Amino acid sequence: MALDRYGRNINYLRISLTDRCNLRCVYCMPEDMTFRPRSELMQDDEVIRLVRLFAELGFHKFRLTGGEPTVRANIVEIVRQIAATPGVEKVAMTTNGLLLDRLAQPLADAGLKRVNISIDTLDPAKFKKLTRWGNVEDVWRGIRAAEATDLEIKLNSVVVRNYNDHEDVVDLARLTLYQPWQVRFIEMMPFGEISDFQLAGVVPQDEIIETIESDLGPLTPVSPGELDGEASLYYLENAKGRVGFISSVSHPFCASCNRTRLTADGRLRLCLLREKEVDLLTPMRDGATDAEMLAIVKKGIWWKPWGHQLAEDVIPLNRVMSEIGG
Ligand code: SAM
Repeated sequence: MALDRYGRNINYLRISLTDRCNLRCVYCMPEDMTFRPRSELMQDDEVIRLVRLFAELGFHKFRLTGGEPTVRANIVEIVRQIAATPGVEKVAMTTNGLLLDRLAQPLADAGLKRVNISIDTLDPAKFKKLTRWGNVEDVWRGIRAAEATDLEIKLNSVVVRNYNDHEDVVDLARLTLYQPWQVRFIEMMPFGEISDFQLAGVVPQDEIIETIESDLGPLTPVSPGELDGEASLYYLENAKGRVGFISSVSHPFCASCNRTRLTADGRLRLCLLREKEVDLLTPMRDGATDAEMLAIVKKGIWWKPWGHQLAEDVIPLNRVMSEIGG
């Protein structure tokens, strides 16, 4: 078991498999983003070794993210090996869905259990504006491909003021009336050099709820006061699915945090919104034994920060979201 000094049991690892992406979402990275040389990123065997070590520490849930995880070479084989690692109970992926039309079935066959697919609006023109060059039809093709498998599906939407904060959230929430999906609205968080844009454009959960309710009627909490992972869940009357809110800015959930992140360049990022990281790649490449690596990881987790300090204007500046993995 990996405990931090506040007594939290940390057992969920999010792994960024690459900092590269086939989109350039305005809230995620600057337009002229430069990517790290591949030699600086974890190689397949390094990822698999770290998964095995984290599983030995009691981690049982693993999420693959990025950048865009599906652009990583060998992604299906990586999933297969992670899913086959003793102690691993669930492998999930956060993806923009663009490549799922050909990858959903092989990924499901390899042991992937869930995909969280990012779709910020159903409107093609607004989708292009938010992603800088994406085509929302490609995401739909990916969603349909995932539907044809037994992958569990959740949809993620980051809400950005003056981009997708009105009819877009209503249209997305309306999907839950006839689809058994969780549609989750994410408050935009500030990172690095684009934090001014993000702080100016954050739309708080209460405002999103008001917008949805004014069109679609009341949203009823599923389990008042309880979170499903990091999301608070609601439903519309007679809905098949659920509407979720991930509101790190207005409703932080640090007390129940059970996760940590591995950046594509092999740093243990202890809190998404704090700069503190522990380098795992360098000792691994320098020949550290499993016992030595486990000691480094355990010590890092022990010192996991309590949580973010956005309320005190402490903003992580060392990386943008695409480099950390959401
Ligand atoms: N490329 C994949 C995707 O689009 O889902 C995975 C990586 S992306 C960084 C993971 C998640 O982080 C996505 O749901 C994305 O919308 C979200 N995200 C990116 N930047 C964000 C920000 N500044 N605040 C909140 N969520 C953000």
